[in-house]
Amino acid sequence: MTRARTAIAWDYAPAPESTDHVRLRDSYGLFIDGDFRDPREGARVPSINPSTEEPIAEVAHAGPADLRRAIDAARAAQPRWASLSGLERGKYLFRIARLIQERARELAVVESMDGGKPVRESRDVDIPLAAAHFFHYAGWADKLSYGVGGREVAPLGVAAQIVPWNFPLLMAAWKLAPALACGNTAVLKPAETTPLSALLLAEICQEAELPAGVVQIVPGDGATGAALVRQEGIDKVAFTGSTSVGKDIQAALAGRGVSLTLELGGKSANIVFEDAALDQAVEGIVNGIFFNQGHVCCAGSRLLIQESVAETVVARLWERMGRLRVGDPLDKNTDVGAINSREQLERIDELVSAGEGEGAVRRTIACDLPERGYWFAPTLFTEVAPAHRIAVEEIFGPVVSVLTFRTQAEAIDKANNSPYGLAAGVWTDKGAKAFEVASALQAGVVWQNTYNHFDPSAAFGGYKESGFGREGGPAGLRPYVRVS
Ligand code: NDP
Repeated sequence: MTRARTAIAWDYAPAPESTDHVRLRDSYGLFIDGDFRDPREGARVPSINPSTEEPIAEVAHAGPADLRRAIDAARAAQPRWASLSGLERGKYLFRIARLIQERARELAVVESMDGGKPVRESRDVDIPLAAAHFFHYAGWADKLSYGVGGREVAPLGVAAQIVPWNFPLLMAAWKLAPALACGNTAVLKPAETTPLSALLLAEICQEAELPAGVVQIVPGDGATGAALVRQEGIDKVAFTGSTSVGKDIQAALAGRGVSLTLELGGKSANIVFEDAALDQAVEGIVNGIFFNQGHVCCAGSRLLIQESVAETVVARLWERMGRLRVGDPLDKNTDVGAINSREQLERIDELVSAGEGEGAVRRTIACDLPERGYWFAPTLFTEVAPAHRIAVEEIFGPVVSVLTFRTQAEAIDKANNSPYGLAAGVWTDKGAKAFEVASALQAGVVWQNTYNHFDPSAAFGGYKESGFGREGGPAGLRPYVRVS
């Protein structure tokens, strides 16, 4: 069912962010050994703006010979990088963090053009958090042994890092900052649909005078990622993306002595108890699922509401959804931007149709969507059964599935009834209940009376099919060091 918007009585005037200040090149090479290089094998492919379907810039894709060259450069640079004092390595990371801040406006606009997310989010969340991550690990670089219980540490060597398209620069920061702080060098593959901010980060590495070979950025598609993890001469793989690719990587690394961390998908439960502050909870639900069009591994996509307040919460949520502004990612008033790619839009369409087919009740806000580009209006499903695909599978779009529960025990059972275990939210007025529920949930992160709150000092990672290893805080150092 598609219902009309409920509450927009007046609208904002357009407030588009300017693109005049963006300094993109027409074509980018591979960033290897301190400079942009022509690919030896790979082709040059345009990166598309998902809100207009227009090409933004051309990007070289790395083939196996290019990856070899990148790993060799990282290998050659690693001993000298590791031999710098932690204080010296930290200085480079501080410089990178400061340069991200200096170029924040440009990075935010490029992130929104390349990925489709609202500029309000790239400006206020992605870019500041990326800088904060480099600041955080800059601070750890000379205190590594304090981060691992006072023991001696040594870097692993060369890290191969693969990041997805939902938080391109932020995920690059999550991967590079701890690796470099610990004395490793890195070869990072951005996602095919969102390589541009990582290439600007390569320019920032040059501006920061980071020694050549410490960071390589090698754009490419899934085949590039698959080839990277199969190359000889890597000591660690860090991957964020889908569970199926995570499993493939794990199989490719079996028996090779390469250490691995995986941050995979989720179907996170956002649990609302009857004693919660319901208006606050509704804001948290909206932030939990519609932030970044729901392209968030820890999105609160399974909304569990206590039966006694279910009708009220759904009514208020539906009303609130009616006020979400969907459209131009570069408009500062936009709440929900473009879907990242045609493939992702097709995946969302397929799962939403499955939800309707299985008998759940669909409500999608009616709004004028731009003619070109990839769009999906915020959607709410009720009458969802735990076995429905929309209650089990990661939709990775602006779609929330509502289930209900009667008791605390039932809420915990339903929340844990998932192959995933990345995050959860608990909304209650009772502190003791929040702690009790949080300790019973199989989720790496549990937010209390908030959702999608990130901080570089807090560890993030999953249970079960959501992966293993932690990123952020002192826990994020562990995957990049050998402890003796
Ligand atoms: P993928 O897991 O395919 O992509 C993540 C990264 O891995 C990208 O850089 C991708 O390259 C690369 N990659 C793809 N195949 C391989 C491979 N065989 N070996 C090594 N690296 C590879 O995610 P998708 O983009 O296909 O999205 C599919 C689903 O995954 C989404 O609908 C969502 O449910 C989930 N997902 C979860 C994310 C999370 O944060 N946990 C992030 C992204 C997706 P390329 O971009 O070129 O394909």
